[in-house]
Amino acid sequence: MDIFGSRIFRNEVHKEQHQQRIEAIKTSTERIPDAVETAYIPSGATEPGATPKFLIAGLGGTLLGIIAAVIAFYLAVGVFKIFEEVGRCLIWLYYPGVIVYYFCPVLVAVFIGLSIGWAGKWARSRRPSQAAIVSVFWALIAAGVTFFYVEDIIIEAAFDYWNVRDCLCGDSLSPDLMEGTMGWIVKGLIVVFNLVIAPLIASAEIGAQKFCEECKNYLEETVIARVSIHNLKDLLMGLLEGDEERFNKLKLLPDKEAWTDKDERLDVIHATCPCEKTHFIEVMSYWVEVTKKGKKEQESQENRLIYSEEFSPEQFNKLKLLLK
Ligand SMILES: [Zn+2]
Repeated sequence: MDIFGSRIFRNEVHKEQHQQRIEAIKTSTERIPDAVETAYIPSGATEPGATPKFLIAGLGGTLLGIIAAVIAFYLAVGVFKIFEEVGRCLIWLYYPGVIVYYFCPVLVAVFIGLSIGWAGKWARSRRPSQAAIVSVFWALIAAGVTFFYVEDIIIEAAFDYWNVRDCLCGDSLSPDLMEGTMGWIVKGLIVVFNLVIAPLIASAEIGAQKFCEECKNYLEETVIARVSIHNLKDLLMGLLEGDEERFNKLKLLPDKEAWTDKDERLDVIHATCPCEKTHFIEVMSYWVEVTKKGKKEQESQENRLIYSEEFSPEQFNKLKLLLK
């Protein structure tokens, strides 16, 4: 019996996904199940003044991105210079040079996407498409500005700064890949890529900022329980099936001041707003993955969202008691 009663499903597909998740967790032999997407779906509502705020954020992102690109250029040419100083012409540095040249406009596009995404709460927009459109606008301007002005100026300035012009082996530091027809084709592809990446980042960020349309506030997230990673199936099945027995088996971890990604655990996160009509429960898993590389063992810290559902106030109150 599901102690949480009838679930909040957005649609039939969502209902089906819930059932599939139960089956997948039951039969899974993986230590950590696949990631899930957040159950929150932005309403699409927005407020007057959101577009100008997104435009300002996009300008900020463009400027920050260009600063980052300048630093990347200077560092790349500096590394080249160091190898020249010790008398080694490494032709492979030719390729990193090309990569940096094309990487910089992408860097600017990423900064635009992030800045507009982060401005979501300031603009109070729950419309990912609005953020996406402004991102496309800035990505287009930024790509043009960086390709036509910034890069040429900065490449020259960086070469002058480090006092390098040609490789010791006689190759030019401005490789063919950056000029001519080939250069234009690559530039075109980068622009297309930027026009996709910037809005993707911005709209994903907007979609992740949970908002209550009842009281018009953003939801605040708190960790309401920390559970041993050995209880993963019990916690997930408890939440998915509303199985009380599963909750009784949980080993809740004591609170300590600073948790790091190295501490394996399951965080039960509760998101709610001042009117307390909207609730989301999510589970974030933190674990250390050990992979063998030859004889060496490598440790990496991982985290993944493995559960996300909307709860009614009644369902949340039940859960609160179960996690005590
Ligand atoms: Zn609310």
